[in-house]
Amino acid sequence: SDTTLWLLGDQLNPDLDALEAADDVLLIEAHGFAARRRYHAHKLTLVFSAMRHFRDDLRDRGHDVTYLEADSFGEGIATFLAERPDAALELMRPASHGAGERLRGVVEARGGSLALRENELFWTTPADWRAWAGGSAGDEERSGAKRNDGERNDDGAAIRADGTVDRTYRQENWYRHVRRETGVLMDGDEPEGGEWNFDDRNRETPPEAWTPPERPRFEPDALTRETHAWVRDRFDTWGDGSLETFAWPVTRREALRALDAFVARGLPAFGRYQDAMVGGEPFLAHSLLSPAINLGLLDPREPVRAVEAAYETRGVEPGAFDPDVDPAGSETTLDAFATGGGGDGTADDLPPVPLNAAEGFVRQVLGWREFVRHVYREAMPELADANRLDQERALPPLYWDGETDMRCLSEAVGHVREHGYAHHIERLMVLSNFATIHGVDPADLNEWFHLGFVDAYHWVTTPNVVAMGSFGSDVLSSKPYVASGSYVNRMSDHCASCPYAVSRTTGEGACPFNALYWDFLMEHEATLRGTGRMGLMYSHVEDKDREEREAIRERAARVRELAAAGEL
Ligand code: FAD
Repeated sequence: SDTTLWLLGDQLNPDLDALEAADDVLLIEAHGFAARRRYHAHKLTLVFSAMRHFRDDLRDRGHDVTYLEADSFGEGIATFLAERPDAALELMRPASHGAGERLRGVVEARGGSLALRENELFWTTPADWRAWAGGSAGDEERSGAKRNDGERNDDGAAIRADGTVDRTYRQENWYRHVRRETGVLMDGDEPEGGEWNFDDRNRETPPEAWTPPERPRFEPDALTRETHAWVRDRFDTWGDGSLETFAWPVTRREALRALDAFVARGLPAFGRYQDAMVGGEPFLAHSLLSPAINLGLLDPREPVRAVEAAYETRGVEPGAFDPDVDPAGSETTLDAFATGGGGDGTADDLPPVPLNAAEGFVRQVLGWREFVRHVYREAMPELADANRLDQERALPPLYWDGETDMRCLSEAVGHVREHGYAHHIERLMVLSNFATIHGVDPADLNEWFHLGFVDAYHWVTTPNVVAMGSFGSDVLSSKPYVASGSYVNRMSDHCASCPYAVSRTTGEGACPFNALYWDFLMEHEATLRGTGRMGLMYSHVEDKDREEREAIRERAARVRELAAAGEL
């Protein structure tokens, strides 16, 4: 019998080994999920347009593609099997928890067969992870995977049914391990430049005169326009959703050009301004590659290798690039460095790549992205509902309508509404920080991220939002990523133009972040005091007398009331 490779909407890569091995290809464009919830119009446009372009691309490359539109996968599979009852279906293991087994059930219930194969679109495999995280005490020492005292889970899962953590994992240890295994940015057995991590150089805010590199725009073609019009007509969507602001790559060719553009112009300043927030600048020097990588249009090895190659030819020592003297510039058009992928970065006129930029980028993809994928595998299904702080408040309406006087939040939500995108620090230190100290249920916040972001999939939002952002579980971090207004003030230019006073904690007009932050620490003292590196923070809590604590509680209650009423 023939082998049909069934590819999902986030497996859109034409160079897969799985494709080589298959006789033909099945793509099912399922619509039911999009009708049930309000996704960002750009997210639906991106996914459906990329699938349709991929169909055409595969056909151009000589593949036999069956493309079905259906309400559900079950309906699509039934249609397919009615035509092709003898086909042996194959599927790369989906990234979503339990989806492989569920889809096998869907196929078998309709009389077919489905074999699962390794997902090639991640760099590391579950076996690589097991070899690192291991199971014995010795492995734990090597990997930094720590097992808590107490009863061990029978099934070896990372999180117990009651939400307590059986095993914890630390990204930095994983990252070093994978650097060694892959040889990326290695100098023999040593990390390039003698250090594994140059993050302390990656916390600058740009001078006013600095202009970020121009965002590569991929003008919607006829197929994307048609898809967008259909999305707007067919579904109840969220976000501004206009076609004017839609500029994401939807094909492999465009994704490779986006990579080249980033390596050429964005990368030099990427490290230095990675954590910065600037009013009216949603993108700064970020790569904007997550939508393409998560769809499969780029293999994660490609951006990492391209950045490594650029460092080899244009590399300078950490911090050596001065954007004031050597601005990113944008005279070169996109096509001028469309080398067809790999971003060889040999052009003489391209700015130098400091090591902290190259290392910082490599750490995001090779470290964080692979790491959260495996933590997700280990910690599901419990992770989805993990809520160790028992937070139950509803997400304030400003997350949907962007209506707030708080500059940082209205900027960040505005970026999401307009582009389905906000960069990492806005996601972590504004959007999830505020929700967490407000007391929002992590699962509700996860849902918001899932619907609103063009790069959101369950496997990647869940560890990032529930564990990292909300501290619903300590499976991947020992302390919550929460901060007061002074962090936002240090990393952005928002506070200067905000009607709230970042210098004040209590009373009308004080920055809402401040009272919420201290109130959050006081409320969760029993859980947080002993964890990670929270000692210093609690010494500050102790410095506050009874009166001050009372004023903080009062202000926090008022802020929560205003936020819930949509009046913050
Ligand atoms: P850059 O800043 O240019 O980083 C380069 C690449 O590194 C990204 O393209 C991405 O592939 C990878 N990366 C960096 N950090 C992470 C991370 N923590 N997890 C996974 N990949 C990472 N990323 C998503 O892809 N989808 C999401 O839905 C998502 N939701 C997030 C929610 C929260 C609360 C937080 C804190 C982070 C989330 N991230 C998510 C991670 C990260 O913020 C985005 O990958 C990044 O902002 C994408 O923009 P970029 O491509 O310009 O990234």
